[in-house]
Formats: sequence, C-alpha cells, structure tokens
Amino acid sequence: MNARIVLLPGDGIGPEVVAEAVRVLERIGARFGHHWTLSSHDIGGAALRRHLPPLPDDTLAAAKSADAILLGAVGDPSFDALPPSRRPESALLAIRRELGVFANLRPARAWPGLEEAGPLKPSVLAGTDLVVVRELTGGLYYGEPRGYDSAAGTAVNTLRYTRPEVERVARVAFELARKRRKRLASVDKVNVLEVSRLWRDIVTEIGRSYPDVTLTHELVDSCAMRLAFAPASFDVVLTENMFGDILSDEAGAVCGSLGLLPSASLGNGPGLFEPVHGSAPDIAGQSKANPIGAIASVGMLLSDGLGLHEEGASVTAAIERTLASGVRTADIAGAGRPAASTTQFTDAVIAAI
Ligand code: NAD
Repeated sequence: MNARIVLLPGDGIGPEVVAEAVRVLERIGARFGHHWTLSSHDIGGAALRRHLPPLPDDTLAAAKSADAILLGAVGDPSFDALPPSRRPESALLAIRRELGVFANLRPARAWPGLEEAGPLKPSVLAGTDLVVVRELTGGLYYGEPRGYDSAAGTAVNTLRYTRPEVERVARVAFELARKRRKRLASVDKVNVLEVSRLWRDIVTEIGRSYPDVTLTHELVDSCAMRLAFAPASFDVVLTENMFGDILSDEAGAVCGSLGLLPSASLGNGPGLFEPVHGSAPDIAGQSKANPIGAIASVGMLLSDGLGLHEEGASVTAAIERTLASGVRTADIAGAGRPAASTTQFTDAVIAAI
C-alpha cells in the first residue's frame, strides 16, 4: 500500500513520541512492503512560536488530504495567559471539528505484566480490556449559545444532540462490540437530562439491528464507580462527549500510566490517531516519555485507519513482547528499578516486529 500520513508532532513530549512512533511505522512498512509518504506540520504551541494560528491553514489542508493523521500532543505553559481561542489546545477542538471525526475510540487494557503499574489491586485490574467510544464533535463542548459574562457573574454552555449525531456514533460502537466480546454499555444521565432521554431512545433503537450485541444502559455516576471497582466487567462503553472525556481518563488511569493509552478519532474522512496524554512539560526533552501510547496509536492507525489489521496486530504484539521481556520506561518501572529511555524502549519494540 502507498499511504499519505500527516504527522502533527505538536509540543512538549509530542515530537519525542511521534519520532519513535514513526520509526515503528517505517519498520512495519519495510516488513510488510508498504510505502508511507510522510509530511510533518505545525500545530499548537509549535505553530504559535512561528507566529501562526494554533491550527494553521496549511496544516489543516494537509490533514484533510491525508489518508491518516498521527498527532503527538499540544499544550505549552508559556501560552497559558492567552485567551482560550488563541491557546495551543484550541487547535485540538478545531481539527476534530474540521475533520468531522465524530467517534473517539479509547482502548484501556491491563497490559500483561503491568498489572502492578496501576492504582488498583492486580486481582481487580486483571483481564481489563475495554474501549470507550466517545462522541467527539457534539454536546457541551460545541453547543451554542456559550459565553462567560464576568461583570454579570454568569456563564452558559449548551448541551444539545441531534438524532443523526447519536445514530452515527452508536453504529460505530455496535460494530466495534460485534468484533469484540459483544457487550455494549451505553452511559447517560437519563434521570436528570432530557438529552440523555434522546440518547437512550436512539441507542435502544439502533440496538435492535444488532441482536447479537448485549446492550445495557448505565448512569454515568454508577459507571464511574464500576470502572474503579470492576473494570474487567466492561467491553465497549458508548457515551457522549463530556462524559466520555472524563470516563476515558478514568479508565486509562486504572490501567496505570497515562503514557500507555492510544486513541483513534474516526469520521467519514481520514482518521486522527493520537496518544491520550498531553505535552507533559515536566518531562519534556529528557527522553523519559513512555512511547507506548503513541506506538499503540500507530497500531490503531494501521488497523482502523488504513484497514491493515495484521500490521496493526503486529504492533500490539511487539509492545506485549517488549513488556514481557522486562523493558520499562520510568513511569512504569517501579521505584528503584532500571528504566529505559524513550528511544531504548522503541528499539526493543522495533526488534520485536
Ligand atoms: P499530561 O498528560 O501532559 O501530563 C500528566 C502527567 O502524566 C505528567 O506528570 C506527565 O509527566 C505524565 N505523562 C504524560 N504522558 C506521559 C508519557 N508518555 N510518559 C510518561 N509520563 C507521562 O497532562 P497535563 O500535565 O495536565 O497537561 C500538560 C499540557 O498538555 C497542558 O498544556 C494541557 O492542556 C495539554 N494537554 C494536551 C492533550 C492533548 O494534546 N491531547 C491532552 C491533555 C493535556
């Protein structure tokens, strides 16, 4: 295959983990006979430093014409005083909206050998392998009217969903559940929110076309508790934008370091693949970043973005073999244990492909 892949390294550890993920991508290309045309573009603080907007026009144009996009992270504390629309992070919301990537898939799993890395008892975490499917381009983060009137001491955001928005993300989640363990938990707050009534009605309706998938509905507060008490009881979790933002971080946290988590954002055009973590200014430039989130995002880019399932699976298997051989970055090594650098860990993954 020949594929055009746009790289958006961004800020902080973003460029470090994207560079490693690209080495893995090149290894897969060589091993399976694919050719990648890679081009790198500025986003976030990296664009602001060049006196460009957080999402420059040519970055967006390149992303729109790519087959898939790999993003590192955006966020730079030196721009924190800017108004929200000028801050690096505004590029994230803008690129998701512009690409129309309405379904955000965030897998969270207990990597074999890392059961001790998380905050839960290993016996509770064992067997955890779930995916949060979060609606990404609607709901509270985009609804109008919105605004903050500091003089009046009031602020407003709007939570609004339409039938097509719920239908399309529900279908993605049901299709995914069908390929996995065939269980789907749809999460809402139906006891308080009218929007949740719409959500639940539509998900129930779509579920009738997937009789092989067991659908349950769960309130967001109860789901948050169950994620901490019994994460292994979930398969696919479907929810709206803000609940998904919070629950997917919780699901990730129970599995250990933020650095372990990949994500895929899918729509009708090119998919956007990125580790879940931010720019981690506290460890940037020290080769301490865990590249697993970025490398596993390459795995999702291959499988979910380009339809190269065998290649995607071989990335996951290589991460597993690397962890099984005992190689660990500092965030998952445990106190006093030797830690591999970002590059050394990736060397081991590449050797395992
Ligand atoms: P963060 O994810 O950058 O870091 C949180 C903690 O996790 C830090 O201690 C960091 O060192 C650690 N961590 C993160 N990724 C790691 C990795 N790969 N390996 C090892 N340790 C890792 O979140 P934050 O500190 O709240 O935010 C920093 C900046 O990133 C902010 O500007 C924020 O707005 C931005 N941000 C961006 C994204 C994104 O690009 N998708 C997501 C979250 C935060």
